[in-house]
Amino acid sequence: MSDFTQWPLRPELLEALAGQGISAPTPIQQASLADILAGRDVLGQAKTGSGKTLAFALGLLSRLQPVPGVQALVLCPTRELADQVAQAVRRAAARLPNLKVSAFYGGIPLRVHVESLVHEPAVVVGTPGRVLELIETGALKPDALNTLVLDEADRMLDMGFEPAIQAICKTLPARRQTLLFSATFPEAVRALSKGYQREPSEILLDADT
Ligand code: ADP
Ligand code: MG
Repeated sequence: MSDFTQWPLRPELLEALAGQGISAPTPIQQASLADILAGRDVLGQAKTGSGKTLAFALGLLSRLQPVPGVQALVLCPTRELADQVAQAVRRAAARLPNLKVSAFYGGIPLRVHVESLVHEPAVVVGTPGRVLELIETGALKPDALNTLVLDEADRMLDMGFEPAIQAICKTLPARRQTLLFSATFPEAVRALSKGYQREPSEILLDADT
């Protein structure tokens, strides 16, 4: 039996974990999943490679409702990370039928992404610049959004994405869960959390910055 059965996860998610050979949660998953699944805002810091993606993927997939529209948005610093995160979410969602996960980033014509939004992904993963463009053109409508993830927040700030994140957040429903993950925890990340999270549960596993 998988250790993940300690949480109220849908059987489809437990089956997908078993199918990937994932049986024991990593320390950041162990420390954050209860709060994530309870719908709380979570600020999670743990070093690279510690399994932060699966922690928020299980959270946003657990909150999906049978309604149309984009329900979860994950912001990442680079196209490579956006693709990796989208793949990880798809693997975790492998047993959920008809769930579409799209990745959007620059370097691809905007029109290609606008057209793919016609297929109504429930989960969007993207870089802040392109996601903002898609919201501003009206192609991406965030009214049904219930989960926002700021992934690799330290790197997004290093890359100057704060203004785009701010502009995106202004368009999102205020009533939402906001999850923030970072490999390091400098003051700028704390400030970002203060700006966009409500009473987050802070899980700092090896912060040295
Ligand atoms: P981070 O975002 O913290 O840098 P990732 O989420 O990319 O790290 O995870 C790193 C690797 O660990 C990935 O290949 C992922 O599939 C794997 N992984 C995540 N959770 C588990 C787990 N509970 N057991 C085994 N491997 C895991
Ligand atoms: Mg990561």
